[in-house]
Amino acid sequence: MDSTPAIPELISAVRHGFDSGRTLSLRWRLEQLTGLRDFLLERGPELERALRDDLAKNPSESQLTEIGVVLAEVSHTISNLTSWLRPRSVRVPLALAPASASVMLEPLGVVLIISPWNYPVQLLLAPLVGALAAGNAVVLKPSELAPATSAVMARYLPRYLDSRSVIVVEGAVDETTELLAERFDHIFYTGNSRVARIVAAAAAKNLTPVTLELGGKSPVYVDETVDVDAAARRIAWGKFLNAGQTCVAPDYVLATPDVAGRLVEALRKAIGSLYGHDPRNTADYGRIVNDAQFGRLSALAEAGNAAIGGRTDASERYIEPTVLTEVNRSDDVMAQEIFGPILPIVTVTGLDDAIAYIRSGDKPLALYAFTDDKTARRRFLTETSSGAVGFGVTVAQLSIPGLPFGGVGESGTGSYHGKRSLETFSHEKAVLSKPLSPDTLQLVYPPYTPKRSSF
Ligand code: NAD
Repeated sequence: MDSTPAIPELISAVRHGFDSGRTLSLRWRLEQLTGLRDFLLERGPELERALRDDLAKNPSESQLTEIGVVLAEVSHTISNLTSWLRPRSVRVPLALAPASASVMLEPLGVVLIISPWNYPVQLLLAPLVGALAAGNAVVLKPSELAPATSAVMARYLPRYLDSRSVIVVEGAVDETTELLAERFDHIFYTGNSRVARIVAAAAAKNLTPVTLELGGKSPVYVDETVDVDAAARRIAWGKFLNAGQTCVAPDYVLATPDVAGRLVEALRKAIGSLYGHDPRNTADYGRIVNDAQFGRLSALAEAGNAAIGGRTDASERYIEPTVLTEVNRSDDVMAQEIFGPILPIVTVTGLDDAIAYIRSGDKPLALYAFTDDKTARRRFLTETSSGAVGFGVTVAQLSIPGLPFGGVGESGTGSYHGKRSLETFSHEKAVLSKPLSPDTLQLVYPPYTPKRSSF
C-alpha cells in the first residue's frame, strides 16, 4: 500500500509550514538558496544523467542551459537579496506631512510551480529561486514527460531544502488536476497555452494570481544589411539547441527571396560547423522527447521543400536539423508553434510585409532581427509586440538576470528572473505612518467648508 499522504494533506502540511512563520526570516531564505546551490553543485552528475536519459542532452549543454542558468540566478539573488528586501521609501505629498511612506515586500504564502519537460531543471528551479527569496512555502510539480529529471528532484531536493516548507509532487494530469483543486497564493505555470487556460480557470476560483510562461512562434527577420554567415550561425545555434525544443527558439525566418537564398547556404555551413556532416553521430545534438512529438514534427517537416536535412529516424526519435523553403503562409508548419528542429523560411517583399505578417499572428515570446538598419530596428520595437526582442542574437536574452523574462498576450502573463522574480512572488505592501500630533488631517475632516483643501 502507498504510504505517501494524499495531495490535500501534503498541501495542508506545507501551509502549516508557512503559517508557522519559519519562511519569513532572511536567514531561512538565504539557507534555502544556499541549499539549492549545493544541490546543483553536488547533484550535477545525477542531473546531467537524467537530462541525457530524458532528452539526450549533452552534459556541457545541460551545464550551459540548465544547471548553469539556475546557478547564476541563485548566486545573483544571494548577493542582492538583503538590499532588494529593504523597504523602498516613497515621497509623501506636502498635504499629508508629517508622515513617512514606504513599500515593503511580503511573501504571498504557498505557491505552486508547474514546469514542462523541455528544460526540466531550469524551468522548475529558476522560479523556485524567486519563490524562496520572497519567503514563500513552495510546492513543485515537475513534468512527467521528463521522468528521470522529475525523479532526481523528488529524491534529492528534500535533502537540501526545508522539507516542511518545500515539497515536490510528482505526477501527470491527474495529480496536477488534484493540485489545482487546492487553494494556493500564487501559481507559476510554464508550458503550453491550452493547459495555461486550465490553470488560469482553476486559479480564478480562488482569485489566485498566476504567472503564465508560454510559447508561440518567435520570428527571425534577416535583411541584406548584415553578414548573412554570422547571422546564420546565431540562428542555427538558437534553433537547433535541444533539438529545437526551446520556448524562445527562432520558430521561422522572414527574408526577401534574395536574402533567403543566401541564408540557406549560410545555414548549411553553420549546421555543418555546429554538428558535423551527419548530426546523428554527434553527442552534441539532442532527440525529440517522445513519440507523439516525433510524429507531429515529422508531419510538419513535409511542408515545402527540405533545402537542408529532412531525414528522420523514429527508432531514435531523431529529426535532422531541417530548413524548409517554398513554405506557404497557410501550411500547418506556419499555423502552430514548431518546437522542434524544423526551420521554415517564408519570403517577404520587405520590412513592411514582415512587420504586417508578424502583427497578423499572436504576440510571440521573442522576436529576433538581424539588421543594421536603424529604422528597421526602431520599427520592430515600436510596431510589433513580443515578450523580448533580440537584435543580432537569439535565445541569450534569458541568461541575463537583470532582464525580465516573460511573454505578452498569448505568449504569457507576468515575468521573472533576478529581482523581477522576487517581485513576482511577493506582495508589495504599502505602508504609511503618520504621527497623531500635530493633527494635520483636521483640514479634511467634516464639517466641510467651501475653503477645504484636498490631498
Ligand atoms: P508539459 O506537457 O510538460 O506540460 C507542462 C505541465 O503541465 C506539466 O507539469 C504537466 O503535468 C502539466 N499538465 C499537462 N496537462 C495538464 C492538464 N490537462 N491539466 C493540468 N496540468 C497539466 O509541457 P508542454 O506544455 O508540452 O511544454 C511545451 C510548451 O511550453 C511550449 O508551448 C513552449 O513554448 C512552452 N514553454 C514556455 C517556456 C517559457 O519560459 N515561456 C519555457 C518552456 C516551454
